[in-house]
Amino acid sequence: MWKINYSIPTLLVLCIIVAFYISLPRLKIRRNFGFLCIILVESLVMLFNILSSWVDNNYQLFPLWFVHVLNAGYFIFFFLSGVTYFYFTICLYDIKPLDDPVHTWIVRGPYALAIILTVLSPFFRFIYYFDENGYHNGPLYFLVYAIFTYYLLLSFYCMFKFRHKLKRRRERLAIFIYNLFLAAGLLVRYLLPDYLFMDIFCLIVILIIYLSFMNPEFYLETRNIIFNSKAFKEFIDEHNGRLHYRILGIIIHNYNEMRDLYGSLQMDRAIYSIGRYLTTTYKNQYVFYYKSGRFIILGEQDMDYYQMSWEIKERFKEPWRNEDAEIYLEAGFATIDPGQTVESADIIMSSLIGALGKADTLENGSQVHVSYIELKSNEREAAIKRALTYAINHDQVEVFLQPLISSKTGELTGAEVLARIRDQEGQIISPSLFIPIAEKNGKINNIGEQVFEKTCQLIKDGLLTKLGLSFINVNLSPLQFMRSNLAERYSSLARDYGIDPEKIHLEITEESMVDDAFLQKQIQSLGDEGFSFALDDYGKGYSNLSRLKQCPFSNIKLDMSIVWDYCKDPDEFLPAMIQAFKHMSFSITAEGIESEDMAATMKNIGCDYLQGYHYSKPLPVNQFIEKFGI
Ligand code: C2E
Ligand code: CA
Ligand code: CA
Repeated sequence: MWKINYSIPTLLVLCIIVAFYISLPRLKIRRNFGFLCIILVESLVMLFNILSSWVDNNYQLFPLWFVHVLNAGYFIFFFLSGVTYFYFTICLYDIKPLDDPVHTWIVRGPYALAIILTVLSPFFRFIYYFDENGYHNGPLYFLVYAIFTYYLLLSFYCMFKFRHKLKRRRERLAIFIYNLFLAAGLLVRYLLPDYLFMDIFCLIVILIIYLSFMNPEFYLETRNIIFNSKAFKEFIDEHNGRLHYRILGIIIHNYNEMRDLYGSLQMDRAIYSIGRYLTTTYKNQYVFYYKSGRFIILGEQDMDYYQMSWEIKERFKEPWRNEDAEIYLEAGFATIDPGQTVESADIIMSSLIGALGKADTLENGSQVHVSYIELKSNEREAAIKRALTYAINHDQVEVFLQPLISSKTGELTGAEVLARIRDQEGQIISPSLFIPIAEKNGKINNIGEQVFEKTCQLIKDGLLTKLGLSFINVNLSPLQFMRSNLAERYSSLARDYGIDPEKIHLEITEESMVDDAFLQKQIQSLGDEGFSFALDDYGKGYSNLSRLKQCPFSNIKLDMSIVWDYCKDPDEFLPAMIQAFKHMSFSITAEGIESEDMAATMKNIGCDYLQGYHYSKPLPVNQFIEKFGI
């Protein structure tokens, strides 16, 4: 006799969870589908368990086919529930086993077998059978445990194999615990088969899943009517590359000022009203709220975002009303049609936020479109940022060397150190791409220091003597001067490596040099330590001769653009300027020398050092030594 007393309240609690979950907005993503499957299948398991147990206890009262339908139904849903828990676990780890046939069979095979055996049981007594004494377990009844255990073991295997895919420890722990509860439930079912305890364990599992992963607070905003930015990211990450969608962003103009003006309570109410208006007007689209007065509407390829922004703009002409206030607001718009090839949700998100920011500065109702090209360039920039962070954190900023040739002797006298990093495929990324990004996000300090330290190491290892070099040039971004302890850092590094700072010439670009007493002071103290300075890229931007007087430069590097201009079309100006510099006792380097003729021309007008592809492109250190070693 089965005791069904516990199962009825368990089923009722589950029904409440199902009703609550179904009443809230849901995104079409695998995880939500998985959870929906779990709660619906588990409800059916419990329902069939209660009904079949009761009917089995009183089997004489019912026709045999009815008894079979309930029993077979129970087993089928029980097996299915094992699969749904496994499916949910792999959704959380973002594993897609059904993409290849072998894995499809590993996942589906046992379940298919179990269903066939269950359906045949009324005829062949495989899993269960009935005789005059009522219900009995069949000879293959052990499969009920075996198959559920099989899916549990698969879950544990995936948890272990793909553990790195879930960053949060708390989430990994929750998955482990609910699978442990399933295993415990199965054990209790085995030890106490008369009590329908497994249902209670499953309810506990559902509660753990709900609280850890499906809690509406995780993905809904403003009184649970709109999705939040986390949901947006999850949706895009899952569908990117497979679904063609369009995005319309909306920003409330001067959100913060409006918040100050109307007060946060009124503003929250207005946000709620706007959210309500958007969700009810655009039922076929998803509406997200991205904090600070920014909404996002995501729809399919045919979503007419121009028409929609016009409609919304019209609506914004009316006030947003609540019980005790009327609020007038203005809005700006941003649109993106990402196509099917954008890499990650973060790129779409940051591009959209950037475009909304721009729309906010324009007049009411303005629309900013993020083009495919912009999206791609943001994506490239993000890839460079990743490579940059990786190279810095793993000490993998590489140094290449380019020769500096004395024009008098035609011999190698110095070398410029140039930084290189690599992308994920190991291809070199040009510094003209990553240096400006590093200057923007502050990573230039780390790069500069890594390059400087590696240069010190090379000098310590005898590079200069091996090659007969008198000095080595290292680039120093003017932004590195923002660090107040730069001079100390560089001097102490040179001391640590036992390097004479006079061997190191620091190249500072003229273009971005800041007129700043602070900068001058730092250059001065680096100079006092013995470093000398070259003014890089002279003639590229505007020239400010007064700076030359203020800072202790000893060398001026003519940018390749003026070198090329002069070689193509000689004039009086450059030679006169060079003479003036030499008179002021600066030495001169010409960059971008690509031919013998150019070398001769620049030598004739007084350049002391020559640098360019004519001598060599920048080379990795070992190749440089091979080529120029003595
Ligand atoms: P830069 O300091 O003006 O370096 C010279 C650049 O011109 C190098 O590009 C070099 O490969 C290139 N070049 C040299 N000779 C020729 C030539 O004959 N023809 C042509 N077409 N190009 C030539 P690279 O290595 O790509 O570096 C680009 C810029 O990145 C550098 O310009 C420099 O401003 C910056 N950079 C490189 N490494 C560092 C570093 O460690 N720190 C900082 N702050 N900036 C760096
Ligand atoms: Ca340079
Ligand atoms: Ca230069």
